[in-house]
Order: sequence, then structure tokens, then C-alpha cells
Amino acid sequence: VKERGRGSYGFYRPQMNANLLSRMKMEHAMRLALGVNHMAVHYQPQVELASGRVMGMEALLRWTDPQLGAVSPATFIPLAEECGYIVTLGAWVMEQAIVEASHWHASKTPMVVSVNVSALEFRQPGFVDRVASLLTRHGLPPRCLELELTESVLLQEAQEMAQLLGALAQLGVGLSIDDFGTGYSSLAYLKKLPIQRLKIDKSFVDGLPALERDQAIVQAIVSMGRALGIAVVAEGVETDAQRDALAAMGCDFYQGYLYAPALPVPRLRELVSQAGA
Ligand code: C2E
Ligand code: CA
Ligand code: CA
Ligand code: CA
Repeated sequence: VKERGRGSYGFYRPQMNANLLSRMKMEHAMRLALGVNHMAVHYQPQVELASGRVMGMEALLRWTDPQLGAVSPATFIPLAEECGYIVTLGAWVMEQAIVEASHWHASKTPMVVSVNVSALEFRQPGFVDRVASLLTRHGLPPRCLELELTESVLLQEAQEMAQLLGALAQLGVGLSIDDFGTGYSSLAYLKKLPIQRLKIDKSFVDGLPALERDQAIVQAIVSMGRALGIAVVAEGVETDAQRDALAAMGCDFYQGYLYAPALPVPRLRELVSQAGA
């Protein structure tokens, strides 16, 4: 019996119990993982297409459990969102990322570090104040930090979002829209909200350069970004042909296995120093 989404498992009870049990086990293991050093933040470089230089990096959480092995964020992040633990995880990632951004800020190759923020985290009372005090504590200029928000985050209570995003913009941190084009996009928010970057979802990049429809969608997003003064980042770039197509279309940045996957801190530092970025 296939799991058909939460709460609808069909009638085969042993399987239902097994699923429930494995979820509970995973949640339990996840709640212990930070304390025993089983989680780490890795960083994926973001490359400027025009110069080929690394200009920033995205923080991506990694969890390796002794029993479960490497657990994909696509599995445990939704679980953490459902049980509320994402608030704890997110706060930890945020501090790690700010510490790492401080390192880069003090180096010859300053970088913007981007952090994924879930809706629940973002809407915690005091979120903006906590980000502000972390920046102060680590002496990081706000422009060195960017928050990646999905369209679903932005489609929450409009008034509340406008206020929160306004406060973050006031603070000076960058804001980007993640997985752009996959949500129930309302282009109205691009006009109203203080967004600096759009990230084109991998699903549109996959079809480049051959698929005309993907080509048209990516070109439209890039052109719109240009017209609005919003930089565009393509995610999931795996081939030279994709990168060349994006460069030809005037896309600003790319991220993907072609350049590097998310790497542990020492390996990323090594890569950047070798690239002389
Ligand atoms: P995302 O924010 O859209 O991140 C991009 C995902 O694509 C990452 O998967 C990244 O490793 C992967 N990726 C990058 N380049 C390529 C490529 O060229 N080919 C392919 N096939 N994949 C590529 P990852 O690390 O497994 O993360 C999955 C999702 O989990 C993220 O999607 C994000 O939504 C969430 N996530 C990860 N870390 C965090 C975190 O610290 N906080 C929150 N709230 N969510 C996180
Ligand atoms: Ca992201
Ligand atoms: Ca994304
Ligand atoms: Ca994605």
C-alpha cells in the first residue's frame, strides 16, 4: 500500500503502523541529531555567469544518521516543518551561516550567504529581531546575508508578509524568491515586495537548451527580472550547454552540480581559493 499523503494510508494496517513507526523514529532521531553532531551545514557556490566567479553560496542542511545513513533534506525538512522542529533547526542553520559569512566577509573574497527559511520559522514572533542580533553579535554587515523564501511563504497573510519583509529590507538583508515559477505565483508581489533576486527552479533549467517551452519560460523570467531590477539565479545547472544557454539569455547567476554540489566548509574554501574567485 502506497502512502497517499498524511492520514490516508489505505487499509493495510501493518504497513500503516510501519510507516508511522518509521516517521516517529525519524523524528526522534532528528531531534537528537544536532546535539550529537550528526548535522552539518554545507554550502553550494553561486557563480556569476558574466565573470565565472563565485559570488555567493547557499547554506544547505545535511543530516547523517548512524542507522539511517544520509537522510535527504527533501525527507526530513518537511517532517521538521510538520512537527515544528524546523524552528530549532532553522535557528541553528542561521547562526552557522552567519558565522561562515563572517569568515568570508573578513577574507579577500567576500560572499553573500543565502539561507532557506521555512514559513513557520519566518512567522515566529521575534524572527527579525533574532536575525538582527545575530548579525550584530557576529559583526556581519546585513548585505552579506540573504534569505531564500518560497512563493508559499509569500502567499501567507499579505499584510503580515509585507510588514515582515519590510522590516528585513529595512535591516538590509537580501531577500530572494526560491523555486520561482513552481508556486501559485502572483506577480503582484514582485511589484510590492522588496525582493532582490529570483531563483529559477531546476525544473525549468532541466529542459535547456533543447526544449522551447522551458527556453521561453526562462527567457521570460530573466527579462522580467531585468526590467524590474531583480537579479536572476538559475538552479540545478548540470551541463555546459545549460550554462551557455543561460548566459546567452542574460541570466545573472547559476548554481548547480556543473560547478559544484553543496560542500563542507573546508572543501568549499579550498575550491574558492583555487578558483581565485
Ligand atoms: P532548494 O532550496 O530548492 O535547494 C536546492 C536543492 O537542489 C538542494 O537539494 C541542492 O543540493 C540541489 N541541487 C543543487 N544543484 C543541483 C544540480 O545541479 N542537480 C540536482 N539534481 N540537484 C541540485 P537538498 O540539499 O537536498 O535540499 C532540498 C531542499 O531542502 C531545499 O531545496 C530546501 O527547500 C530544503 N532545505 C535544505 N536545507 C534547508 C535549511 O537549512 N532550511 C530549510 N528551511 N530548508 C532547507
Ligand atoms: Ca533554496
Ligand atoms: Ca530552490
Ligand atoms: Ca527546488
